[in-house]
Amino acid sequence: MDIVDIRTLADAAALQCVAGAWRSGRGGAETQVVDPASEALLARVPAASASDIGEALEAATAGFDAWRRRTPLERAGVLRRGAALLRARAGRIALLLTAEQGKPLAEAQREVEQAADTLEWHADEGRRVYGRVIGSRWPGTQFHTQPEPIGPVAAFTPWNFPLMLSAIKVGAALAAGCAVILKPADETPFAAAEMVHCLNDAGLPAGALQMLVGVAGEISSALIASEAIRKVSFTGSTAVGRLLAAQCGERLKPITLELGGHAPVVVCDDADIDAAVRSLAAIKFRNAGQICANPSRFFVQRAVAGRFIEAYAEAAREVRVGPGTDPRTTMGPLANRRRRDAVEALVADAREHGARLVCGGHRVGERGWYYAPTVLADVPDDAHVMREEPFGPVVPVAAFDTLDEAIARANALDVGLAAFGYTRSMARARRLGNELRAGAVGLNCVTLMQPETPFGGVRDSGFGRENGSEGLASYLSVRTVATAA
Ligand code: NAD
Repeated sequence: MDIVDIRTLADAAALQCVAGAWRSGRGGAETQVVDPASEALLARVPAASASDIGEALEAATAGFDAWRRRTPLERAGVLRRGAALLRARAGRIALLLTAEQGKPLAEAQREVEQAADTLEWHADEGRRVYGRVIGSRWPGTQFHTQPEPIGPVAAFTPWNFPLMLSAIKVGAALAAGCAVILKPADETPFAAAEMVHCLNDAGLPAGALQMLVGVAGEISSALIASEAIRKVSFTGSTAVGRLLAAQCGERLKPITLELGGHAPVVVCDDADIDAAVRSLAAIKFRNAGQICANPSRFFVQRAVAGRFIEAYAEAAREVRVGPGTDPRTTMGPLANRRRRDAVEALVADAREHGARLVCGGHRVGERGWYYAPTVLADVPDDAHVMREEPFGPVVPVAAFDTLDEAIARANALDVGLAAFGYTRSMARARRLGNELRAGAVGLNCVTLMQPETPFGGVRDSGFGRENGSEGLASYLSVRTVATAA
């Protein structure tokens, strides 16, 4: 593998932010950042050591003490200035994001914009954290509530939206008055580091926002075990979420978990098929399908299944697969080798189970983790791809006869993050909205996430909500004060 010089874009050595200063990790191990488009090694990042982690924990306590004393208005000002810096540096940050993650530059630019927007929304929402005065049962006594920041937070973010998903956690925690230690995914530390730079440059006190990169298990175990950390938030796989939840349970620490899903789509025979395919295809191939709320199991009523599949295949064939830096590209590579291999195995397994390959089903090019947009028809429910989230550009379609049957098959898995329904019937839409088991349901639309709206799953997709006032509330603890006159 060639070593590409990324020093013009980022200083790979100094990726640990501890107590307001950037420095190299002292752990001995290193994590590697690889360009998904070429498989070239972009950077070796020295991992955080136990003493780096210990210093960050100490600084988080001091940073929390300073940050919580700022007024909500001052905190909002810092977050807003951080968002403005993110926008001002968007060109460079988007390039970094595309280099480390593979997504097309236009999508990277959009992610920078969304991250800035998310920080701004939380800045404003933090100004609207109010307590309540509550009637008392005892004459002469009054009750009121005082929301308070919960304490220093450990935040773990994944590689699919390294910037936006970090902004959601960091924005909410800082707006609530908490300090944060952010551990971005090993594969994608650069864009997240840029956001930490922006917020620190905007005027955070030292230690209010820090970042550690290194061996994920070592960092998470040490942070969760520390008395200093009072809340944990993780976005990633169900397996890792389960592990971190067990560690938090041991210490009785609250954790927000946004884990994998496997979003079913129920397309009824009265739906506007062309409009459905247009919106579903646009979101499906965004970020090469690596979106937690991505439509990923397609149940289509038998009478319209053929038309739906043909229209989807046509949309899939129009996707231009290539490196994210090429302006003609509409879909980049998968973000890492294990995802490409997993997608490949799921497609092979589906075909072994009798699925019909309509388009795609192969790698693209000699180098880079490219996989062609793929449509599979007649996929049986026992094929792995119907039970395991592909997290890639794969569209497995199965036909159904009755709505009861479709809802039962859609609800057959233990995960429930997002679900979608397409119909022109009010009655069917109401049933799908009420009965599809998921934290978020899109009816005739695919957009489920915005800073204003709570987002999160049920069952194995995790618990707790991010974004919205519910997300901010998860970083607050409510003190009840009773006062006798
Ligand atoms: P994985 O389990 O290998 O890792 C998931 C993430 O967790 C990575 O970012 C990794 O750095 C981090 N991690 C791993 N061990 C950790 C630990 N002990 N402590 C803290 N962090 C740790 O999974 P993967 O191969 O990256 O993805 C597999 C599946 O996870 C996907 O198919 C998808 O279902 C899910 N996923 C979901 C999201 C999301 O946005 N909800 C993001 C990424 C992955």
